Amino acid sequence: MRIPITMSHGTDQFPGHSNRLTLEHFARLVAIAHELGFQSISYDDLAAWLWHGGALPERPIMFDFDHPMKSMRHEVLPALERHGYTANLFLNTGMLDDMYRAGVPDFAERRYLLWEEAGELAAAGWQIGAHTVTHPNLSELSLEDPSGEKLRAELAQCDAMIERHLGITPQDFAFTGTSWSSAAEREVKARYRFGRLWIVGAEYQVDGKKTRYADLVGVPGEDEADGGPPHAARYITRDSDPYRLPSLEINALVFEPAAFRSYLEGALRA
Ligand SMILES: [Zn+2]
Repeated sequence: MRIPITMSHGTDQFPGHSNRLTLEHFARLVAIAHELGFQSISYDDLAAWLWHGGALPERPIMFDFDHPMKSMRHEVLPALERHGYTANLFLNTGMLDDMYRAGVPDFAERRYLLWEEAGELAAAGWQIGAHTVTHPNLSELSLEDPSGEKLRAELAQCDAMIERHLGITPQDFAFTGTSWSSAAEREVKARYRFGRLWIVGAEYQVDGKKTRYADLVGVPGEDEADGGPPHAARYITRDSDPYRLPSLEINALVFEPAAFRSYLEGALRA
């Protein structure tokens, strides 16, 4: 079983913003998953399958999203719901702290989710995970603070905010950017069930050094012609390290509908 897993920061609701994933384009990609018979799963489903004998749909897919962007509630949710899909959303809570501190803008001007809207996503079946408070580069942070104390404080505060506003204790974590450290993984293992990485190319920042993503996750073979790691590194399998799960950025390697389709079809050939 190979489980495809995509990641994005939502759809672009802001002209001039660098996110080229429009609602229309996203809907087109999601329709491909539907056409191929994929059904979305959550981290609870994944845990049940890996460790408790739970069953998965024949063609499972995970739709992950990071950051509390407003589009999650107003564009991504309806686009996924049309096909009966749910998603997993990882929140870095500092963005919301800043918005509430400064005063919540009018709907048209607002970039971020309200806590109430995040609650609506959870009520619709989305699984909510943690993504720190201030979104530090974890590779650099590990050099600055090898004890892991700063990251521990970030994780505790992120979890506390999500608990306070949503009544949910996050069980899963998304590493920030393409940064990773041994110290961060140690803290994440102490607190969460899964840790998820983010594939935008073949490279990662690991303990202060540039490293191949494939080497971080222990997948052999050369990087692919599209600039990403070996295909085998792009799916969740039974052999995946639960704290080094992949996710493929939609804006990068699978943006073109043909590439997206080929990624999903690659899961069926295994
Ligand atoms: Zn992030």
